Amino acid sequence: MTASTAPRPVRLRVAPSPTGDPHVGTAYVSLFDLAFVRQQGGTFILRIEDTDQARFREDSEQQIFDTLHWLGLNWDEGPDIGGPFAPYRQSERLDRYTPYVDRLLESGHAYHCWCSTERLAEMREAQQKAKRPTGYDRLCVGKTRDERAALPGFSEIPVVRMLIPADFDTRFTDLIRGELNAPHPDDQVIVKADGFPTYHLAVVVDDFEMGITHVVRGEEWISSTPKHILLHQWLGMDLPAYAHMPLLRNPDKSKISKRKNPAARLTWFREQGYLPEALVNFLALLAYPPKEDGREVFTFEEFVADFDWAKVNPVGPIFDLDKLGWLNGHYIRSLDCDELAARIVGHLILTGVLDPAPPPAQIELIRAATPLIQERMQLLSESEGMLAFLLVSDGDLVVEDDARAQLKDDADGVLDTAIATLEGLPQWTATDIEAALRTALVEGLGIKPKFAFTPLRVGVTGRRISPPLFESMEILGRESSLTRLRSLRASL
Ligand code: GLU
Repeated sequence: MTASTAPRPVRLRVAPSPTGDPHVGTAYVSLFDLAFVRQQGGTFILRIEDTDQARFREDSEQQIFDTLHWLGLNWDEGPDIGGPFAPYRQSERLDRYTPYVDRLLESGHAYHCWCSTERLAEMREAQQKAKRPTGYDRLCVGKTRDERAALPGFSEIPVVRMLIPADFDTRFTDLIRGELNAPHPDDQVIVKADGFPTYHLAVVVDDFEMGITHVVRGEEWISSTPKHILLHQWLGMDLPAYAHMPLLRNPDKSKISKRKNPAARLTWFREQGYLPEALVNFLALLAYPPKEDGREVFTFEEFVADFDWAKVNPVGPIFDLDKLGWLNGHYIRSLDCDELAARIVGHLILTGVLDPAPPPAQIELIRAATPLIQERMQLLSESEGMLAFLLVSDGDLVVEDDARAQLKDDADGVLDTAIATLEGLPQWTATDIEAALRTALVEGLGIKPKFAFTPLRVGVTGRRISPPLFESMEILGRESSLTRLRSLRASL
């Protein structure tokens, strides 16, 4: 079986099911879809496959929109923006499948099956016991409803099954993997007893009606593809090309799942403070080689320019968060400071550390402190701890226990001298603060810098580790810095 060679405008889709937090695989497939679509001047479609009522989650669709937009993986047609092939939500397309089913029934490619679930379970059990291949035994094939009703294990409401030919050729060509062969399938149910189409029918009809030229999806669908090809052929539809993306794996090689690994959830990356451009680069690298010179950092545009299905590595990539952390740190360091400050503010709003509309003074403090922390962060979320001292009032600053434990017996004397020095300092700049404190504490009291400055760091930031001390004091201001130092002194 080969794909049609007729030139058609390139149209690719991603078809997530809204079953909870969006899966990272949805972004991964969308990215590879988009790379090809943008290279070919084609169209990218978002279709929501929401016919599995039992697993449907109300807010999931919005989360799919939000996380894909956040990543810049934008679609040209979809349920929120419409398009020439609307509706793009499967639940709104239910009446469209019936004529196709009727045609399959009339041509004898499909048949009604009235077997009860109990009968099917017994049949399967018997097959397993006898170590025979499991599969529907075709009791209903060629029977009218009345003929079948006369036999045991009858259920009033039938399903519709595909009549898979015995000599069915299950080979097909995959853009990534070349020639593939899947096991001979069972007579696939295409309409359930509740009248809903199964995924297998709906995906074929929707892909056809939406003019999809390339079906890109996870490798778990390889065994279904011959059935889909058969449906296309029976219905006289142009065949799309197929590309099955390698499954993302946990470090133990198991398939990445939302139950076992938080990193399977797209919202998690946002909450953790990964940058969308870093995640996009990482998702590309999972199945695509670095540049010829070994460079692993590349933009979406570079990815598009170079994109070739034949270069996609079919071996399931391990989801390596250390690598992503490294990439994220790289992207954080390469951002312009104001842009990074804006991202930090956005992150702190998202995680509820800041109000949705923070006061301008708070934003200004973050902007001023951003250059101090830019080199020290891998994740935006790390800014929260590093900037906390700037975002609390002097009275609310908590000196952490491990910070207090750093104080030596001479901390009171150090603080007294530091406070007196800083009170009389003519200019409140990091350079002046540092020079004056070195003179007073290191030279004057003869204390090593490390010990001289620890009580100041603890007093001003409440932490053992902080951004550079003198710059932090400059940003915090003289009044707050002194208030905090006096308060630590009073607590000794
Ligand atoms: N709804 C399916 C999924 O979420 C789509 C598979 C396909 O793209 O055909 O995996």
